[in-house]
Amino acid sequence: MSRIVRYVHEGQGPRWGEVQPEGSWVQPLACAPYDAIVSDGPPIRFDGLKLLAPVEPSKIIGVGSNYRAHVAEMGRELPSVPKIFLMPPSAVIGPGAAIEIPPRTRRVDHEAELGVVVGRRMVRVPEAVAMAYVFGYTCVNDVTARDLQRSDGVFSRAKGFDSFCPVGPWIETELGPDDVRVRCWVDEALRQEGRTSDLIFGLPRLLAFISSVMTLLPGDVISTGTPSGVGPLRHGQTVRVDVEGIGQLWNPVVNRADRIESSDA
Ligand code: MG
Repeated sequence: MSRIVRYVHEGQGPRWGEVQPEGSWVQPLACAPYDAIVSDGPPIRFDGLKLLAPVEPSKIIGVGSNYRAHVAEMGRELPSVPKIFLMPPSAVIGPGAAIEIPPRTRRVDHEAELGVVVGRRMVRVPEAVAMAYVFGYTCVNDVTARDLQRSDGVFSRAKGFDSFCPVGPWIETELGPDDVRVRCWVDEALRQEGRTSDLIFGLPRLLAFISSVMTLLPGDVISTGTPSGVGPLRHGQTVRVDVEGIGQLWNPVVNRADRIESSDA
């Protein structure tokens, strides 16, 4: 097990670190971890850190309709090729940061997903070797303004609001991703539960397919789709994405301040 974090410590940072095996200490790193893990300075206590999103992606690629039960609950057809879309890096927030519900939407949903973090530049990489380009795995909440997704017919606004892409709490580099449980909790209620063995398009296919379209860079994130059970988030709730073998990504939900004054909500 190796867990890579990004953090601020005593006002210094952001910095990269590697959580030590016993979990209470973090080894600061000299630079981003993709090429090599280079220690820099003495270990610091984990509980003194403010964790940030463990990625600085050039892009986040979402995959729609990639679990059969979710396709059924949305009333969609089974896809014949992966349905990909882009989310802006500006939507990324880290563990504990607030998901802000904007004005002009009446329905904002959680979508718990396994995130794949790219470790090496990928250009048209064949499926058979694609997994060798993966750096590790993290939890993603593909927060979606469901009403705008339906009315727009495209996803950029519905999934592109600031704070709509929580990522974290760290990158787990040693995960076997083929059959892990993906769950979502809202406060104490279990909302979503699925296993990555139910993915319609598995990770090698997704990586090959996406890299046949666009160059993938270290730190880019592929959010692999959500299991069934998507549902609404409201001000004051806390949402938790839990991917087996990685950990838990917690985020509070708040109404964005300008939501109150909006005249056309
Ligand atoms: Mg999704």
